[in-house]
Amino acid sequence: MGPGPSSHAPAPRGPRLENALLLVPPLRWPRRPDRRPPGACHNLLNEPLAWDTNLSIRYRADAVVTCDPAFSVHRPGVVEVERGRISWVGSAADAPPTSGPEHRLAGLLMPGLVNVHCHSPMTLFRGAAEDVPLAVFLRELLWPRESRLERDDVYWGMTLACAELLRAGVTTTCEMYMQEEAILAAVLDAGTRCLLTPGVLEMPSWPRFPSWRRRLADVLAFRAEHAAAHERVEVGVAAHSAYALPLEGVTAVARAAQEVGALFHIHVAETRDEAQELERQHGKTVPALLADQGCFDGRVLAAHCVWLSDADLQLFAEHDVAVAHCPQSNAKLGAGIARLTDMLRLRLRVGLGTDGPASNNDLDLWEEMRLTPLLARLKTGEAQALPAPEAVRLATSGGAAALGRDDIGTLEPGRLADMVLVRLDDPAFVPLVEPRDVCSHLLWSASSRLISDVWVAGQQVVANGECLTVDRERAQREVQLRAVRLAG
Ligand SMILES: [Zn+2]
Repeated sequence: MGPGPSSHAPAPRGPRLENALLLVPPLRWPRRPDRRPPGACHNLLNEPLAWDTNLSIRYRADAVVTCDPAFSVHRPGVVEVERGRISWVGSAADAPPTSGPEHRLAGLLMPGLVNVHCHSPMTLFRGAAEDVPLAVFLRELLWPRESRLERDDVYWGMTLACAELLRAGVTTTCEMYMQEEAILAAVLDAGTRCLLTPGVLEMPSWPRFPSWRRRLADVLAFRAEHAAAHERVEVGVAAHSAYALPLEGVTAVARAAQEVGALFHIHVAETRDEAQELERQHGKTVPALLADQGCFDGRVLAAHCVWLSDADLQLFAEHDVAVAHCPQSNAKLGAGIARLTDMLRLRLRVGLGTDGPASNNDLDLWEEMRLTPLLARLKTGEAQALPAPEAVRLATSGGAAALGRDDIGTLEPGRLADMVLVRLDDPAFVPLVEPRDVCSHLLWSASSRLISDVWVAGQQVVANGECLTVDRERAQREVQLRAVRLAG
C-alpha cells in the first residue's frame, strides 16, 4: 500500500505547527545547585521538569513507528503526550476527540534511540588512538590522556557529546566514565536522558584512582546523593573490567550495586587476548569467574561480550545478564564479531552501543543499527538473519530492556515521550509500495541525517536538525582547545 498523494507532498523541514503559540507550555525552572564550570552554556532546561498544565498535546505524523511488541506502524498516526508521557497512540482515523493543541508533523515519528554503552566525554579523544589494538589503545594512548582530565574537560566533552547524540536521535545513553559530577551537570543542561554508571578502576599512577576501594566509596557517595534526585538521570555503578582492577574489587562493586538495586555495568571479553589472559590467570572464562563470585546475581549489563563460549552464553541466560553489543567499535579495533544471533536465540536482553568516540569514532547509533544485521548476516551466512524490524528494535526497545527500563524505548501509553521525527521527503523513502517498506527504508536507506526534530519527556530538544539546548559552536571550541592540552 502506497502513501496518499497529499501525505508525502514536499514538506518543510521540521514540524509544521498549526498552533504555534500553544506548542510549548510554560515550564518552571526550579534552581538546583550550580555545578557547572564558569561560562558553561545556559540553556532552556533545568530540572526537575515540571509542566504547568495537564494539557494533552497531540502530534499527528505521516507515520508512527511504535517499536511496540507487535511492531505496529500507523500511517498516518497520532501520539498524544501529557505531562511528558505518552497517553495515547494509534492511527489518526481512530484518534479520540481532543480539546488540546494538535501539531502536524511532516515525517515519521519513532522512539528515541537508546545507546546502552558509551563513554561519551571521550569526544575529547576522537582520533587520538587510531589503527592500534585495544591494549595499546588503552595503555599507551588513552589512559595517559585520561590521567590529565579535569572536571571542566569532562563537562565540555559531555556537552559536545550530548549535542551529537541528540542530533543523531539518541535520547538515552548508558555512560561509563569518571568525573561523574561533570557528566551529570552536562546531561542536565542538555536535557538528554542518562543511566550514569561511574566507573571504578585502579590506576596507581593516577592521583584520583590510587585504589579501587577509595574510588568505590566516592562512587557510592555520588549515587546516594543523586539516585533519586533527577527525573532524567538514573545512577548505577560500573567496574571497568576484570583486567583494570583486581577480582576482589570487581566483586565488591557488583555486590555494592546489588545492595542498592543499581545497574552493574562492566566490560566483558572484548578481545581474544583479554579473554585468554584472564582465563590463564584464573583458570576460568571471565563470565564463569564473575558468575562464581556472585557478580551476576543482580541487574547486570555486560559490554562487548565478543569472545563467549556456549557455556558462557548459557551462564548469561541463566543469570539474565544483558549485553551491550558494540559492533562498530569491535570492528574498528579488530576485536571480532559477537555472537548476536546466538544471544537472541537464547533470549538474552541485547541493546546497541557505540562505545566511546575514540574507538568508533562517533556517537551515531544509527550506524550500529545498520551494521548489526550486516555483521550478523556475514557471520551466519544467512540473508534472513535479523530482519529490519528486529534491528530497529535492538536500537530502541531492545536497548531499554537491556537497561532494565520499561519506561522508554517504545511509543506506547505510559512510556516517556522520548521521540524522534525522521523526514520522509527524501530519496531514501521512495518508493513506498508495501507496508513493510517504511521500516526497511528506515534501516537500510535512511540515516541520522534525516532526523529533524527530537523530544525528551515531551520537551523539544532538537529542531530542524539542530540542538536547542547546547551552544554547539562553543562546545566545539572548548573541546578543540582542551584536547590539544590533554594530548600533552
Ligand atoms: Zn567501553
